[in-house]
Amino acid sequence: MVRFKYYFLSVFFVSTAAFAQNQEKQEVKKGHTNTNKFRQLYDEFSTPNMYRAASGAPGTAYYQQQADYKMDIVLDDKNQKISGYETVTYTNNSPDDLKYLWVQLDQNMRAKDSKSPLIEGSGVSDVLRPSQFVSNFMKEPFDGGFNIQEVSDTSGKPLTYMINRTMMRIELPEVLKSGGKFSFNVKWWYNINDHVDGRGRSGYEYFPKDGNRTYIIAQFFPRMAVYNDVEGWQNTQFWGREEFALPFGDYEVNITVPSDHILDGTGRLTNRKEVFSKKMMERYEQAQKSYDKPVVIVTQEEAAAKEGQFAETTKTWKLKAENVRDFAFATSRKYIWDMMAVKIGDRDVMAVSLYAKEGNPLWGDWSTKVVASTLESYSRMTFDYPYHKAISVHAKEQGMEYPMICWNYGRPNADGTYSDRTKYGMMGVIIHEVGHNFFPMIVNSDERQWTWMDEGLNTFVQYVAEQDFGKKHPEALSVGHDNFPSDRGPAKMIVPYMGGDQNFIAPIMSKGINVYQFGNNAYGKPATALNILRETVMGPELFDYAFREYAQRWMFKHPTPEDFFRTMEDASAFDLDWYWRGWFYTTDWVDIGIKDVKKYFVSSKPNKYIKDYLAKSGGSVNNLVPLVFMVEEGSEDYSEDLKEGTLVDNSTSLKEYLMDNFTPEERKNIKEPKYFYNITFEKPGGLVMPIIAKYTYADGTSETVTYPAQIWRLNDNEVSKAIASDKEIVSIEIDPKEETADVDTSNNIWPKQEVKSEFDQFKQKIKS
Ligand SMILES: [Zn+2]
Repeated sequence: MVRFKYYFLSVFFVSTAAFAQNQEKQEVKKGHTNTNKFRQLYDEFSTPNMYRAASGAPGTAYYQQQADYKMDIVLDDKNQKISGYETVTYTNNSPDDLKYLWVQLDQNMRAKDSKSPLIEGSGVSDVLRPSQFVSNFMKEPFDGGFNIQEVSDTSGKPLTYMINRTMMRIELPEVLKSGGKFSFNVKWWYNINDHVDGRGRSGYEYFPKDGNRTYIIAQFFPRMAVYNDVEGWQNTQFWGREEFALPFGDYEVNITVPSDHILDGTGRLTNRKEVFSKKMMERYEQAQKSYDKPVVIVTQEEAAAKEGQFAETTKTWKLKAENVRDFAFATSRKYIWDMMAVKIGDRDVMAVSLYAKEGNPLWGDWSTKVVASTLESYSRMTFDYPYHKAISVHAKEQGMEYPMICWNYGRPNADGTYSDRTKYGMMGVIIHEVGHNFFPMIVNSDERQWTWMDEGLNTFVQYVAEQDFGKKHPEALSVGHDNFPSDRGPAKMIVPYMGGDQNFIAPIMSKGINVYQFGNNAYGKPATALNILRETVMGPELFDYAFREYAQRWMFKHPTPEDFFRTMEDASAFDLDWYWRGWFYTTDWVDIGIKDVKKYFVSSKPNKYIKDYLAKSGGSVNNLVPLVFMVEEGSEDYSEDLKEGTLVDNSTSLKEYLMDNFTPEERKNIKEPKYFYNITFEKPGGLVMPIIAKYTYADGTSETVTYPAQIWRLNDNEVSKAIASDKEIVSIEIDPKEETADVDTSNNIWPKQEVKSEFDQFKQKIKS
């Protein structure tokens, strides 16, 4: 069989060389730039250096800055104001000397003179909530934003500063040398916004029935910007939709709230005995040993009893966190609180939930169990969750993440009933937001620049975690559901987006604020791309090892997209430049089909190809080495006496070759394929992808063959496979399990299936 191919090819090479020479004479020579889809990503990537290695790991000179905070915070529930005094200690681990520091003032996005509303250019919305209409067109703008009362050094001496919208530049009294530290104080306050009406990611929800508020407080203090080797100061303004870039640091935060409130947030509670009742303390002890169900620390009855109190006195909750990139907290007298332990590696972590009674019974039943399951799944896919707790807070219409704490939607109806949509939505958002502890809270990518690095990676693991959760808790699934109904992850779900109007699609490698269809761009498509990479291109074993390697290399560090792309290749021996290029740098889509299938026979008679070749070269048939002539069924070389179901019997050269070169014993073991096909695959879609072809044979059996994407390296439009088979092929289907996000499946099946109209089907029924 090997030599059979050799003869055939040697003739082929002679003729193509001659053909190419002719072409050269006739055509004007034109150069072209390299558009091969398998070319390396050198043009797009920055050159590796001492900070970031070519392997995708942190380099030998990798550094990151540190910002430590000591804060005293007071929440004024009566006036919905929050004030703070913070001391920031900034450590310059960079090799550079710094003349000034940049501090982020995200709340200024809500200032009266905020420019955020001014950059929206989409005109009148078709529908608006009454509250939106009133606040946009009938009311003075909300008086939010930081009131900065003091910026001073440790001796209290004022420091010069300048505020440019959401960024504050503080002049250093003297240059902060590489390796040096500088401490400064900021005193501030602001009016807390209603996050339900104002669509903020932090603020309060007001409950008119009892006059209480639940507070979810974040982006609430002046926070250091990131300074690093790729951006210098990352001081891009905050417009609202994009997220954050933050350095790691240690936090000591004292938060004073009404004494009937409970509170939880980032970090360890260091004065539990001062703020917990004896009963709460006992329940807390139990919760630490409860691994299968949550223990309620503050019950619904206890929380409801406080709703009319409005305590005049206050309590201070003290929290301490190490190596976190941010700090957030939730507080209210309305909160119910439950906890349960979960084993992560050899450590116990607390899964925690905070929710008003309006979240029950859904939240009491499921929130903490979802948190625990999420920590297990993500720890398996990345690294053991390193913090001591993870809190899920119920907040209307929220889905937002901070270290150890996140806000999640999913509100039942007033009578406590809820739809599947509410239930799965709540479970999905908790998995997603708790998952953000891993990306970007620990694997600390720059969200302001690259939304997909946390949202895409997180949404990908979310899918894995949702499927895990459905398997661990089948009782959580509704009747008729065997699996958790994930919205994002499965390939076919991204088809409407990728096959949609190109005017509204941007490459994943775009800044989040600048794209249409944000959710599909930064969440759905990268998550699906990674899922396809895992399931179809690399296989879970290779993918999971490399993905874990990326997470572990960059935990508690600041990765860039290249660090991810490079690590995935470095740890797997998979050249993926083509995949990153196609899926992340372009808006191409997948469409692979079957163009045609031709049956071939072998023959003893010279075919047209060889006759033409001899006519051109002036040779004679008698001078040729013995050859096997390939004849397409129905072509001019084809004759009826070519026998079906055998290849060997139609060719004397093949028969003689077998007789001369193999013993009868060896011939017994030689394969004698009976059918020969030329199958041409077409690729109308721009993305190169593996061809997954399912061949079904006349005897009803089938087999699926995956041709690696590299099959397209020499021809981006169509490729052909010569297939010698024992059995007759009766049908071929491309991507039979819908795993590649093929946008047009009408070309996926051979022979083309006629779509019968309902009338035809009706006629057939009448006949039979
Ligand atoms: Zn997210």
